[in-house]
Amino acid sequence: MTIDRRSLLKSGAGLLLLSGLPAHAAVLSRPLGANPFTLGVAAGDPWADGFVIWTRLATRPLDEHGGMPQMVVPVSWEVSEDERFSRVVGKGEALARPELGHAVHVEVSGLLPHRHYWYRFSVMGSDVSPIGRARTAPAAGAALDRLRIGVAGCQHWEAGFYDVWGALAREKDLDLVFHYGDYIYEGAGRPVGQGAVRSHHGDEIYSLDDYRRRYAQYKSDPHLQAAHAASAFAASFDDHEVDNNWAGDYDQDGTPPEVFLLRRMAGYQAWYENMPVRRGQMPNTAGITAYRRLDYGNLLRTHVLDTRSYRTDQSCNDVARAETCTPEAHASPEMLGHAQEAWLDEGLGNGATWNLLAQQVIVMPFDVRAPGASRPVFETDLWDGYRPAKARLRESIRRHGLTNVVIATGDHHKHAAGVVPERDEAPDGKGVAVEFLATSISSGGNGRGDDGFAHILENNPNFDLYTDRRGYQIFDITAESWTTDVKVMDEIEKPGGAIRTLVRYQVTPDRAELHRV
Ligand code: FE
Ligand code: CA
Repeated sequence: MTIDRRSLLKSGAGLLLLSGLPAHAAVLSRPLGANPFTLGVAAGDPWADGFVIWTRLATRPLDEHGGMPQMVVPVSWEVSEDERFSRVVGKGEALARPELGHAVHVEVSGLLPHRHYWYRFSVMGSDVSPIGRARTAPAAGAALDRLRIGVAGCQHWEAGFYDVWGALAREKDLDLVFHYGDYIYEGAGRPVGQGAVRSHHGDEIYSLDDYRRRYAQYKSDPHLQAAHAASAFAASFDDHEVDNNWAGDYDQDGTPPEVFLLRRMAGYQAWYENMPVRRGQMPNTAGITAYRRLDYGNLLRTHVLDTRSYRTDQSCNDVARAETCTPEAHASPEMLGHAQEAWLDEGLGNGATWNLLAQQVIVMPFDVRAPGASRPVFETDLWDGYRPAKARLRESIRRHGLTNVVIATGDHHKHAAGVVPERDEAPDGKGVAVEFLATSISSGGNGRGDDGFAHILENNPNFDLYTDRRGYQIFDITAESWTTDVKVMDEIEKPGGAIRTLVRYQVTPDRAELHRV
């Protein structure tokens, strides 16, 4: 099965193919005999002359090694100006290595700014992959009329079907989808009917192979594949890519940090293998650098944040909603960590019309007290549990004189919209930034709409919306205004739900205020 290296080297293709290979690596030399493109294709993190294109080979997604032989597999790729690949403008060969779960990440370059391109992969003797589409970013500093960004995440496999992804795939003219995380959930499979509409394969995931198989199961969904094929993503991770509510070196179960860090490493590697991110996001034994910037001409600078890796542990042992755990309980908390915080502060100094903080957990003060309770209650896993860090974020925005900061948030499985006030203690005061919390794709099941949440809006005057429904949000961005469409689907526990716009907001870059339109 191993290729004859010497005879291959005689051909030009062999030279190209084997450069970068160790001398004795086993290279697949015969057809796989089955379609290896069962996990779809994806693109991500566009820049002005390219983007990442991704696939991961698996002939049998849930089997050991995804059904793949433990060999290096050469993969050809093509990028074209048209859907039929009659104007191919880039092509090459990449190596899918067993060390990386047969993932392929190609950083395509040499393309024109702010143009649509189509891409596909093939393996010798096998099917050609599905075709994906992505758009490059505009040239640095260029003016552009309009930008459309989808926001989604929290896609618990067992809680619902992915028709919301299908609806997002059909949105017109998306430049990008920001995935805020909870791409997978780590828990054990539950039987259908007992808390699941479809079951996770296997037990709780710990090893790299476990995580890979969980991603493979999620990625086998045609709606999710369609969303990836339709536009580039900017992927970040939240907690469930590793373990519920982990924080820096700590999980929620009191596992010794040196043990948890090995699990975290497996989670990081599987995330990298399965996301269309750049080589700069590849983890190493020191950890991962997942925070990064994406610029769209002079219209938008996006700061993709990592609010998990560098946190201090949650206060009060992460006993969320404990009345005795006040925001002051955490004496010197870190949310972003020193390096990321300094990087963000530096990056906020720019002339873009808008700044988007693409991140995970709620920044706005959020009083979750029960109906009728007399004292406010705050959750320790949110920015409320890290108030001095939140104050430094606000101070950074103020110091740069910015009124154009929009925050995208996930994690909470609700649609919400509101304003981050100058002081957490005065939530009805002047705003520093606008925050849009995009609900889950499926986590939480169909949800209960607005039932039983009147007290949330009463106790949080900075919130304009709080609803338990499934869906996503669309940011439609111009130099004059930022429009957010809050999209909801009526049914996700059965296939075939219908999507609609629940509410539309508008923001202008001169002040951090929300307007319903
Ligand atoms: Fe979630
Ligand atoms: Ca989460």
